[in-house]
Amino acid sequence: MTPMSAPVGGDRPFLNRRLAAFGTTIFAEMSALAARTGSINLGQGFPDTDGPAQIAEAASRAVLTGQGNQYPPGPGIAELRTAIAAHQQRFYGLGYDPDSEVLVTAGATEAIAACLLALLEPGDEVIALEPYYDSYAACIAMAGATRVPVTLRPHGGAFALDLDELRAAVTPRTRLLLLNTPHNPTGTVLTPDELAAIAALAVERDLLVVTDEVYEHLVFEGSHTPLAGFPGMRERTVTISSAGKTYSFTGWKVGWITAPPELVSAVRSAKQFLTYVSSGPFQYAIAEALHLPDAYYDALRADLAAKRDILADGLAAAGFQVFRPRGTYFITTDITPLGEKDGLAFCRALPERCEVVAIPNQVFYDDKAAGATQVRWAFCKKTEVLEEAVERLRRL
Ligand code: PMP
Ligand code: GLN
Repeated sequence: MTPMSAPVGGDRPFLNRRLAAFGTTIFAEMSALAARTGSINLGQGFPDTDGPAQIAEAASRAVLTGQGNQYPPGPGIAELRTAIAAHQQRFYGLGYDPDSEVLVTAGATEAIAACLLALLEPGDEVIALEPYYDSYAACIAMAGATRVPVTLRPHGGAFALDLDELRAAVTPRTRLLLLNTPHNPTGTVLTPDELAAIAALAVERDLLVVTDEVYEHLVFEGSHTPLAGFPGMRERTVTISSAGKTYSFTGWKVGWITAPPELVSAVRSAKQFLTYVSSGPFQYAIAEALHLPDAYYDALRADLAAKRDILADGLAAAGFQVFRPRGTYFITTDITPLGEKDGLAFCRALPERCEVVAIPNQVFYDDKAAGATQVRWAFCKKTEVLEEAVERLRRL
């Protein structure tokens, strides 16, 4: 028997080496802080108003009529896969076969995990735009691969990608480019020229590309251009999206990938051992959501554009340097003009100072210094909530 004083499993920590650095996600920490202090939560990105009632009714109808209450098919229900393929055709003119080129996942989060676990060997290098969404780093680590960040840097009021830096980051070990546009947390939307250059590089160096486009419908200037549409890209690209952002049902966790059959098949091999399937009745509801008329998408965008302006102007008035986003529902600011140097300390103290919660971008960086003074604010909240937050931020 193990003596009482000896730790279970010996001196070895329970959490393995690959995940040891990751701790608790910043979203959980900051949402708990908001709840504990009764602060306005502009941290974790979720809307404080649910999506269309008609879609909520479709979900409740599915539950009550026994649609999806038992395991749905592994790749997702046919109605949803067909609707996803129709969406890619309708918005982007991209043709995908619902049976062999679409896979439904437990949110974009599972899609990211399944892609990286399926497509990488230990030792492969993955290039990701920094600041990166936190699950990218964790999933690259779980796959035993190495992340190679390429930093988006402030330039003319926005965060810009340096294509030369991207090109220089590719080595013979690079297997995969992990992109995200519109980009969380900076709000940058890669331009068609930038995407064309990235595509040319991927073709030239024969790289796989996983592109996270969950904010595809939240572009305020211009429109979203999927990377998969560029020459040479269809056959090497896995496109990820999710219903969470587009339809304001982040708790339903319905996500998907579109890709050629061989890539879908590889990703499905990993996905089947993660959740196997998820969100049965919600899949029926999201199949309906994907057919909403253009007016729905236009109204969503107009509503969020107005909210972006309220929060951006308020943050500027409170003294922050504001990077006005072209997409997503996040604003990145710099706290230097307020005499602050450390975004993490600033965010931890903010509830006490003015009862608002935000996210320190430095947790999304390997180069902590590059992100030290950046703080992110979510504007997918009711207008009166944003106005109250702006009022409180004036106290700073
Ligand atoms: N990718 C990005 C860039 C995100 O911001 C998020 C979080 N909303 C996700 C993926 C995860 O999406 P989901 O909630 O569908 O898992
Ligand atoms: N994607 C959301 C954000 O960036 C949060 C998702 C999560 O909590 N993991 O705020």
